[in-house]
Amino acid sequence: MKLVSFNDYKIGIVRDGAVIDVSDLAGANNQKWPPVAMNHLIEDFANLRAKLESAGARAGIPLASVKLRTPVPGATKVVAYPVNYHAHGAEMGQSYRANTQGFFLKPPSALSGANEPIVLPIVAADRRIDHECELAIVIGKKGRDIPRERWQEYVFGYSCLIDATVRGKEERVARKAFDSFCPVGPWIVTADEVGDPGALQGRLWVNEQLRQDANTRDLVVDVPGMIEMASSVLTLYPGDIIASGTPAGVGPIHPGDKVKIEFERVGSMTVDVVQGQTGKLSLFTKAAAAGA
Ligand code: MN
Repeated sequence: MKLVSFNDYKIGIVRDGAVIDVSDLAGANNQKWPPVAMNHLIEDFANLRAKLESAGARAGIPLASVKLRTPVPGATKVVAYPVNYHAHGAEMGQSYRANTQGFFLKPPSALSGANEPIVLPIVAADRRIDHECELAIVIGKKGRDIPRERWQEYVFGYSCLIDATVRGKEERVARKAFDSFCPVGPWIVTADEVGDPGALQGRLWVNEQLRQDANTRDLVVDVPGMIEMASSVLTLYPGDIIASGTPAGVGPIHPGDKVKIEFERVGSMTVDVVQGQTGKLSLFTKAAAAGA
């Protein structure tokens, strides 16, 4: 099943190029901030699944006519793995890897959707803002200290994720937490439709030029390992997102670019890049030091 958040954070299922509004079944009508109906749908999915599947017979609206939002706007966190592909470590000149470095967090406020642009902050002319092509793992069940052998019980589904990043040596969170720096979408596809997340080809294009093309079999810390490592530190909740880390081929994005990301058996989305008039942090309006 493919699940979307759309327009004013209604919830839909996608079938044959159409969105079927299931907000009534998911308690997503008239949501106050933060919109958490998707978190509850994920938590209650085993009970709701038959009703949602029956709703597939309802009339849909064309997918192209809705505004796709980020699928889980109320995620409590995005756990993100740095340098989780050897070839990306090499291109960045980093000797550490995610298995020795651990993870960082991107804030839920950075999440955006398939039909929302990446809004670039104001930075110095020589500061690179890069795309990173990552698999999003959407957590399905609350858990702490999850052993890697039990990872499947805790995965609800998958999505595509762009980890937008200001390059530099400053703290990762300051460089990666700008609003709209975490597009996730276009939908969540449930785990049963994806199978092994350790054999997924992911690709990213900028203006139709292929920039990244790699398989999750080359992850340093695999999906079970990411769940084990994160849940050793914090409780994972339904709707939380794990960002896999990027393969090699990262590169700059500029206003006017169109960034397409695709994971096989998951989906694809194309996100616009625009220049914002905010985010003028003095750290980044100066020239960057090399690295990171
Ligand atoms: Mn990343």
